[in-house]
Amino acid sequence: MKLISFDVEEWFHILNKNGNHTRKLMDLYPSKLENEIPKILDTLEMQKVKCTFFCVGSVAKKFPRIIKRIQKDGHQIGSHSYYHEPVSCQTQSEFAADLRLSIDCLEQITGEKVHCYRAPGFSVSTLTPWFFETLIENGIDTDSSIVFSSNLKYGGFKKEAINEPFLIDVNGAFIKEYPIPTKRFFHKKFIYSGGGYFRFFPYQFVKKWTIGKNYVMAYFHYRDFYINQPILPGTSAIDKFYIYYGITSAFSKFKNYLEDFAFTNISDFDKKINWNNQRTINFQAFL
Ligand SMILES: [Zn+2]
Repeated sequence: MKLISFDVEEWFHILNKNGNHTRKLMDLYPSKLENEIPKILDTLEMQKVKCTFFCVGSVAKKFPRIIKRIQKDGHQIGSHSYYHEPVSCQTQSEFAADLRLSIDCLEQITGEKVHCYRAPGFSVSTLTPWFFETLIENGIDTDSSIVFSSNLKYGGFKKEAINEPFLIDVNGAFIKEYPIPTKRFFHKKFIYSGGGYFRFFPYQFVKKWTIGKNYVMAYFHYRDFYINQPILPGTSAIDKFYIYYGITSAFSKFKNYLEDFAFTNISDFDKKINWNNQRTINFQAFL
């Protein structure tokens, strides 16, 4: 099954070395959200694809109309934090407060319960042993924050990859986990179905790797398609490559991806999956 998601954040919400200070950026740079998100929504509508949109609360608060349009178009809405700061740079109580703010803000806008979460920059690791229990305490039962890769700046797990949805047992309560799939290549694991990785690899490669998989979680941001995007001051050469490479052709690649595969969102997939057949992992395996 091929799943698709978007992280609704600003083009400047990039977790570089200043990653734990992104809340200040909202006042510094102009938003392009109202220009870029409708183009994406129009394309999804044309292709009849329903997505899961993980929304940053502080962005939603500023642009509730965009969140309402996402909801009206029949997409699922989840939380992508309130300030878009790495979970692994926060204490448990800071994380809980940020999560609560984002849930309250999104629920106020949509009038619907939020029960899905994705951490900014997939910033969950052994540094965040309280992550899953904090999700459960705040009514989240579905997560898409785990990447089995050690190449990320703020998160990731070195364990052997589980490239399918699985349950996480948190002292008898359960989180449905939709990990970001990885592909092994010369003893390295890498992501191929979203963000900078999707922009970097030629489309024929992404297509080939996707065809061969039972489960894919694609993920995008509007900045992946935002042409003539300003380069953030202080961005290192390597970050420049990761953040801005391939933007000019990314939207047509994205449209090909939608045409070539039948994508669905987490809530529609959840109605079809029999969780009794999926693996259950004790949360202590992630400590
Ligand atoms: Zn993000």
